[in-house]
Amino acid sequence: MATQANNEATMLGHPKGLFYLFFAELWERFSFYGMRALLTLYMVNEIFEALAIRDMAAAAVYASYGSLVYASTVIGGRVSDTLLGFRKSILLGGILMALGHFVLAIEYNIAFYLALGLIVVGNGFFKPNISTFVAALYQENDPRKDSGFVIFYMGINIGGFLAPLLCGWLGASYGWHYGFGLAGVGMLTGLAFFWQGIKAGVFAQEGLPPSQERLNKKVMGLSNDHWISVLAFLSAPVIAFMLSSYEAIAGGNTFFGDQNLVNLLFKGIGVAVALYLGYILFQATVEERKKLIVAIFITVFMTLFWGFHELSGSVITLFADRNVDLSLINASQTNALNSMFIIILSIPISLLFTYLSKKKLNPRTPYKFGIGLLLAGVSFYILKLSGTAANEDNLVPFAYLIIMYFLISIGELFMSPVGLSKITDLSPKRIVAFMMGIWFLSSSYAFQLVGFIGKQLAVESSDKQVDNADSLTIYIEGFELISMYAIGAGVIVLIMAPFLNKLMGDVH
Ligand code: GLN
Repeated sequence: MATQANNEATMLGHPKGLFYLFFAELWERFSFYGMRALLTLYMVNEIFEALAIRDMAAAAVYASYGSLVYASTVIGGRVSDTLLGFRKSILLGGILMALGHFVLAIEYNIAFYLALGLIVVGNGFFKPNISTFVAALYQENDPRKDSGFVIFYMGINIGGFLAPLLCGWLGASYGWHYGFGLAGVGMLTGLAFFWQGIKAGVFAQEGLPPSQERLNKKVMGLSNDHWISVLAFLSAPVIAFMLSSYEAIAGGNTFFGDQNLVNLLFKGIGVAVALYLGYILFQATVEERKKLIVAIFITVFMTLFWGFHELSGSVITLFADRNVDLSLINASQTNALNSMFIIILSIPISLLFTYLSKKKLNPRTPYKFGIGLLLAGVSFYILKLSGTAANEDNLVPFAYLIIMYFLISIGELFMSPVGLSKITDLSPKRIVAFMMGIWFLSSSYAFQLVGFIGKQLAVESSDKQVDNADSLTIYIEGFELISMYAIGAGVIVLIMAPFLNKLMGDVH
């Protein structure tokens, strides 16, 4: 692939384009996490306010939205690779997302699902392509690439840190819709940075459509280019319909049992993916097969971890709202803690791994994954312990929540960035993009788990105000169970580790 890496202008030793992508992604994540910080509380207190089972409905919609927002990246990545190229995909995705946030800012509930649909499609075009765009700025074996990704990850988390603080403050002080509106402004700012980068020519020839001719080709009077935009916009209402199918159940229609359309869709996709993976394993050589088995296992472990981690936007936010003694910040703002710890810890932890490598003591990937899951388990155990320190108003000290986020963020750094690079090492070149798609799907399935747990920990109440003694009991029991499952999973991974290490061969 043509690259500009050798003759381009640099900034802090990195291609200048990295810094435009850094700020574009910072603001995109600002919009994504700003909205996420408000979403569950908005559903519980506004959209589903009249329902006794409002927690359950909110858990179902949050889970379906989260599953689709990550699954759409598989399609967005594919469309970009084959037709659109990174630049157009990122612009299209950004516009759809900004629109979604502004639709959320409209004070009519009817707009709610459509907004989520727009964000799902927009994220599908934006998120995978901006990450791959970073990689494309470097030549294949450029040693700066890893640190380029560390810088990029910082951008993600600066957005993830600032957004809940600002959108959460606006939401609480002026109204939900101002918070969502600010998320939209954030996304537009991201787009402006990206556009500036294009204007400044920092991407040279990167990110253009693979074949302009194919993109311009007319099908039924419309070019492929235009078809993609039309279909992207049209799929938003379809997704809105799928997301809203929970409302029918909440209203007493049990046509789908306690499943909604999205749950059913993901069951189908799961079977298809499992069959296809079986086929790939069958076709692979013995050496490839061994590594692929490890890749599949670490993806499953990652799914479990995100399943516990992504509870932060639903159950943990509700817990913070109802049962944590908060004085300086409000419940949605507690969502900033994870990103804050990632910003503080990512450099020390990557230095720790480098130091351990030099001493030949760096644990191999399966051990890191076992430790990550154990940390998730311990973090939920801390929340369980918080119950013993509750005051007469059923509020627990904030310090417990801070320690919980500290521990789970270390776990995240032991797994997420490590896994990302190992997937590329463990997959044969011809299917590495497909395996990346599977890696992103792990976040989708994690949200199915989040939905399941969220429904178990839903507090029913015929009053508008949930009784916080009830909620404390439900959450503390739930946290104990989650911690046991996560610790159990961590122990199983550690027991399996020697076997997986053998299968990994020369990959560390
Ligand atoms: N926090 C990271 C991001 O927003 C990873 C999220 C995930 O993959 N589930 O990019």
